[in-house]
Amino acid sequence: MSIKVKSVSKFYKNQQALKAISFSADKGQIIGFLGPNGAGKSTMMKILTGFIKPNEGQVFVDEIDVLQNPLEAQKTIGYLPEHNPLYTDMYVREYLQFQASIFKVAKNQIELCIDKVGLNAEAHKKINQLSKGYQQRVGLAAAILHNPTVLILDEPTTGLDPNQLVEIRELIKELGKDKTVLFSTHIMQEVEAVCDRVIIIKKGTLLVYEKLTELKNNNQQTIKVTFNVKVKEQVLGKLANVVSFKNTDNNSWYINFETEKDMRPIVFDFAQENGIKILSLNTQNKNLETLFREVTK
Ligand code: ADP
Repeated sequence: MSIKVKSVSKFYKNQQALKAISFSADKGQIIGFLGPNGAGKSTMMKILTGFIKPNEGQVFVDEIDVLQNPLEAQKTIGYLPEHNPLYTDMYVREYLQFQASIFKVAKNQIELCIDKVGLNAEAHKKINQLSKGYQQRVGLAAAILHNPTVLILDEPTTGLDPNQLVEIRELIKELGKDKTVLFSTHIMQEVEAVCDRVIIIKKGTLLVYEKLTELKNNNQQTIKVTFNVKVKEQVLGKLANVVSFKNTDNNSWYINFETEKDMRPIVFDFAQENGIKILSLNTQNKNLETLFREVTK
């Protein structure tokens, strides 16, 4: 396991920010860390990186106990904090050289990282001359200088324009090929585009920790169907696995099923058996945004 969090709780004075959080991540996974503002995401990330201590629980990164041995653990962790604190008066290469000297990183790593995050053409510029997207690249380069196996990124795409967003997402995906990445975000589509797994927390409680594929196929299926005639509710109620239905206009319905089976052929057979014709039929996939709203409301 690259990351192991066991029953972590954190109090700020008497306010509980994390309530017995547990999860783990395998090598090479990209995990999206979702939750409304104030859910405890940054707190969890600061604990993972050894910057603050929990009141209870244990945290391991690459089998190293972060609480017992924070400095050793930090050698395997790359951290991009929220708001990416950079020395913006410095030149990009100069800043990375400075960071490398602090962490005693081999000099050849600097050019490697500049290349990895796509900063070659900007490396001679001052950081404050760069766009927000390129400044994030500098933060990411600094985070991977010591070649960590785990990357913790606190809202790395906040404040970026749509093009920068896509570029940084691609970069996170690329970095995730040989690192375990945990990154927090508010953007659901981002998680769908980049992540293997999703954690959703709310008010310090872990609500969801699942593979993205499983989360999307949670046996809930909605079919939108239009019949040629008005079908009575009693008739629709005879359908197998039906949970609920809603009439949208005269002959159209949203029908919710709970099953792993694809219900489309069953609805077709059902219509035929009842002498009804189907004019249109399609499944409405639940996206992560709907799920997020459902679990955090
Ligand atoms: P998120 O990153 O999900 O927005 P945070 O981890 O920043 O959430 O905050 C979780 C809760 O802990 C919030 O209620 C926040 O106000 C509180 N909190 C965070 N940091 C501190 C702090 N240093 N002192 C007191 N309360 C804090």
